[in-house]
Amino acid sequence: MPTDIPGIHHVTAIAGDPGRNLDFYTRTLGLRLVKRSVNQDDVSVYHLFYGDYSGTPGTSMTFFPYPGARPGRVGTGQVSTTAFLIPEESVDYWVERLADAGVDADDPRERFGDTVVPFRDPDGLPLELVARADAPAGDPPEGPVPDEHAIRGFFGVTLSLESAEPTASLLITMGFRETERDRRRYETDGELGYVVDILEDPQAPRGQPGAGTVHHVAFQVTEDDQSEWRDVLTDHGLRPTEIIDRKWFESVYARTKGGVLFEFATKSPGYTVDEDVDELGERLVLPEWLEDRRDEIEAGLPELSSEQSVE
Ligand code: ZN
Repeated sequence: MPTDIPGIHHVTAIAGDPGRNLDFYTRTLGLRLVKRSVNQDDVSVYHLFYGDYSGTPGTSMTFFPYPGARPGRVGTGQVSTTAFLIPEESVDYWVERLADAGVDADDPRERFGDTVVPFRDPDGLPLELVARADAPAGDPPEGPVPDEHAIRGFFGVTLSLESAEPTASLLITMGFRETERDRRRYETDGELGYVVDILEDPQAPRGQPGAGTVHHVAFQVTEDDQSEWRDVLTDHGLRPTEIIDRKWFESVYARTKGGVLFEFATKSPGYTVDEDVDELGERLVLPEWLEDRRDEIEAGLPELSSEQSVE
C-alpha cells in the first residue's frame, strides 16, 4: 500500500472576472498570488494560484477565471464548501475584516467544537474559516493581513453527495479516518487540509459546473507513491488518468463515484521550480512545452488587473 495521504494539496474552482478574483483572494483574504499561468487544457484562460508565502502544498486555492462565466450551481457531486484554517484567536479579526470588505458572510457558528465563519467569494463560491488552537504558524504571505491572523492553508473540504458510501470507502483507503458520523467527517494526520466532510442528501439538486463552483480537489502524494495510488483508484472501480506532468506537480485525476473529481498531486517539485520564491506570481509563467506559444497565449488572455496594483 502507498503511504497515507496527509491532506489536500490544492483546490481548483471556476471564477468569473479574473481581476475581481485576484483582488478578493490577495487583498481581502490576504493570500499571495504564487503562480500566474494558464489552464494547460485551455490556454485562453488564466490559471491563478493563491497560497502562503512559498506556495506550500496544502495552501493553494487555484482558479480558472473565465470573464463573463455563467454561474454554476453548488450541489451534489461537488466539493460544496472549501474551508481555510485560521488561529483560534483570529475569529473576531476575520468577522470584522469580512464585514468591512462587504463580503457576503454568515454569523460564526460552532461545529464539533470549532468556530466556523461561512462566507462566499464574489462569484458565490462557498468558503469557510475554521478556527483551531493547533493551527500551524506556517509561512504567512506578505500582505494586508497581519501574520498572527493570516490564513494558514486549508482546513478541509465538504463533499456534497447523493450517496456517501463509495467515496467514504475511498477516503478510508487514502488514510482518512472517520471521526464524526452525523455530518460524516474524515481526518488524516497532516497539518493542513486534513479534513473531508461528507454531507449526504439524496434529495439535493445536482451541482452544475460554472462560476462559483469547485472544479476538483487535489490531495498530496509523494512521487514514489503516485503510480500505486493509480492502482488503488483502479481497484476502487474508477478510471484514473495517466500521470500528467503539470510542471509544478505531477497529477493523476479520477472522477469518484459520487461525482467529485479527485486529483492526486505530488508535493514536489512545487511552485519554486521555475521562479524564485520572492518573485512568485509576478509574471506569466508557462510550462516549457507552451513557451514557444507565449506571444499567442499572452495576446489571447484577458487583462488581469486588480483595483490596485498587485504587490
Ligand atoms: Zn489540480
